[in-house]
Amino acid sequence: MAQALVIGGGPAGLMAAGALARGGHAVTLVEQMPTMGRKVLMAGKSGLNLTRDEDLESFLSAYEEAAPQLRPALQGFGPEAVQDWARDLGETLFTGSTGRVFPVGMKASPLLRAWLTRLAGQGVTLRTRWRWTGWDAAGAACFQTPEGVQSIAAEATVLACGGASWPRLGSDAAWAGWLPVVPFRPANCGFRRRWSDHMTPHFGAPIKSVALRAGNRVTRGECVLTRDGIEGGAIYTLSRALRDGAPLLIDLAPDLSVQDIARRLAAGRPGESLSNRLRKALKLDPVKRALINELARPLPTDPLALAERVKALPLPLEGAQDMARAISTAGGVPFEALTEGLMLRARPGVFAAGEMLDWEAPTGGYLLTACLATGLWAGRHAAEYLDGTAS
Ligand SMILES: Cc1cc2nc3c(=O)[nH]c(=O)nc-3n(C[C@H](O)[C@H](O)[C@H](O)COP(=O)(O)OP(=O)(O)OC[C@H]3O[C@@H](n4cnc5c(N)ncnc54)[C@H](O)[C@@H]3O)c2cc1C
Repeated sequence: MAQALVIGGGPAGLMAAGALARGGHAVTLVEQMPTMGRKVLMAGKSGLNLTRDEDLESFLSAYEEAAPQLRPALQGFGPEAVQDWARDLGETLFTGSTGRVFPVGMKASPLLRAWLTRLAGQGVTLRTRWRWTGWDAAGAACFQTPEGVQSIAAEATVLACGGASWPRLGSDAAWAGWLPVVPFRPANCGFRRRWSDHMTPHFGAPIKSVALRAGNRVTRGECVLTRDGIEGGAIYTLSRALRDGAPLLIDLAPDLSVQDIARRLAAGRPGESLSNRLRKALKLDPVKRALINELARPLPTDPLALAERVKALPLPLEGAQDMARAISTAGGVPFEALTEGLMLRARPGVFAAGEMLDWEAPTGGYLLTACLATGLWAGRHAAEYLDGTAS
């Protein structure tokens, strides 16, 4: 039986290990942390958004320039297949109002447990606390382990070592020292800004029901004011454009037109303060009023000019937050270094999958779906490679 090795016990690696085992190969799955799947468990803490209830073409567009390279894997295992797979592992799923799909229990732990049990049943050997450190001169993969240095000479290997965010969960991108990489950048991340002291009472407050614009992207939702900037779902959605330098504009009253707002502001009592008018006429909550005071000073007295600020308030940012805090990363192994089956051109028999590849997408199911799909795709191609070398 040919020996297959998978390095990295996250969603992409587990998927690859299953595909290789189903292909009839002896698989060893190696993880450097004491347990498998730490990042996906963390993802489940805020509700595991597995995928989206969305047609494939629209789903693929979220990957922008990487869509053509991800298309074959996602055609093989797209949003529908992910849902079938999770149900087959015992999950009951629900679709939220924005099309995002979650397990009813929201957590990742039941899914991960069932998945690991299945892999063990398929004969996959699981090794934890094994840290991959590269290859030796004979091409065997080398590991630091509690039992000292070990090596595995596999006939096919799938690398699934993750991106470069949340390194304390295991994806520390140390492998970037010995593989071709496009430099990592934070993705789905918050942004830095120094607020004046007036904003201190609002740190941690949600800024609800706003529309945000950056470049040609607009999103509606919620974000959170933090001590050192701004973060949260709506910001993450725009993080690629913001990271690449697009200015951020906030619409604090997305359901009203500029004219509606100007009319309401003009109807206030004579002598009433602008702040009172914003509160009474527009029902802006304290954090939104604080933002206008912080960012639009001196406040225009003309109702139309003030209405225009409410609809497009510029929020200057000072760069992305630290990569270690980002939900995901852009950068990694470039597709040009890989065949369509995700095999490294420079290392026949070595495949790569998941977030360690150079693609990015907004959070909200796109990340996990592409990791699962590329893990399966690389695992299947590694199995075919072994079949080919055996014959
Ligand atoms: C807070 C948070 C919330 C998230 N929520 C969602 C969500 O709701 N929906 C969504 O789609 N995505 C979400 N994500 C992103 C998603 O979890 C990741 O994209 C996904 O886990 C990446 O899968 P992967 O298998 O490629 O890598 P990882 O899950 O990072 O797994 C890689 C594994 O490889 C191991 N490894 C690395 N280097 C070595 C080495 N040298 N030797 C041995 N092992 C090694 C690591 O320890 C790690 O366990 C979230 C991420 C975070 C941080």
